[in-house]
Amino acid sequence: MTTDVDKSKLAATKPKKKKKARPWYRTAVQIFFFTLVALITLNEALVELGRQTIPFLATASLHAICPFGGVVSIYEFVTAGRYAQKVHSSSFILMWAAFILAVGFGPLICGWVCPLGSFQQWIAKLGRKFQGKKYNHLIPAQVDRPLRYTRYLVLAVVIFFTASTRKLVFQDYDPYFALFNFWSSEIAWTALLILGVTIVASAWVERPWCKYLCPYGAVLGLFNLFRIFRIRREESTCINCKLCDRNCPMNITISTATAVKDHQCIACMNCTSEQFCPVADTVDFTTRRDAGTMPATESTSKEEV
Ligand code: SF4
Ligand code: SF4
Repeated sequence: MTTDVDKSKLAATKPKKKKKARPWYRTAVQIFFFTLVALITLNEALVELGRQTIPFLATASLHAICPFGGVVSIYEFVTAGRYAQKVHSSSFILMWAAFILAVGFGPLICGWVCPLGSFQQWIAKLGRKFQGKKYNHLIPAQVDRPLRYTRYLVLAVVIFFTASTRKLVFQDYDPYFALFNFWSSEIAWTALLILGVTIVASAWVERPWCKYLCPYGAVLGLFNLFRIFRIRREESTCINCKLCDRNCPMNITISTATAVKDHQCIACMNCTSEQFCPVADTVDFTTRRDAGTMPATESTSKEEV
């Protein structure tokens, strides 16, 4: 625990109103989307078996609700006016909806909607229980920082091979698709292997797939550079306790920034709650610019600071 906390500052800024909790509705949204995707997968299995399907999901498929299908089809659509194999027009619509959301609020899809992100987050609860404060702070910064850019390389490779083959090549490596179809012969062993490694790694590192490899997270992360609502820290009330840094699932250094522009922020809003920042209204999710902006914060994997 950091010791240079300014106690007089803390006393002066002590919250007088009820503590602002982490938004409960985020958990509700995550459970809703996880259940929806699970039901869609179940429905697809029922169709294959020729059984009675779930009425309101009659025509839904996992490919049709994946906005990343739209991203990998952009080249094919622009040059030939069609989508990559298995991609539907709904993926294109969802891709644009996700982009519009991201311009306003950042990668909400990553922090609130993506079932694979939620799944890793739920495993993290177990990791935290067994490892305490060491959880999610194990990889040295010198290794962690460059690794965070691997997802852009994955994105470039996926777009290149999808454009050159017109096939949904990413499916064979996609842990999200494998998570909901692990029993199916449609799933390649490579996707199962990546899913297995992601699950095991999540016991030590929060959201390892999102941080290091997810190509869709790479696309949405770029919106953090210019999104309208962002995480802002009020320097005058901050007591430098660094609880925000220690609890950020993406290891972002919030305690030295006035505005978070890190490409890894998933807009989870954890840092805006008083469970993570003890001083009321010091970290906010806002358009307010009077605190000024600092360059992008750096990701860190330091031990306790
Ligand atoms: S900076 Fe805040 S909103 Fe962004 S990932 Fe970290 S805790 Fe979540
Ligand atoms: S912004 Fe971070 S360092 Fe400052 S008081 Fe809040 S939790 Fe502590």
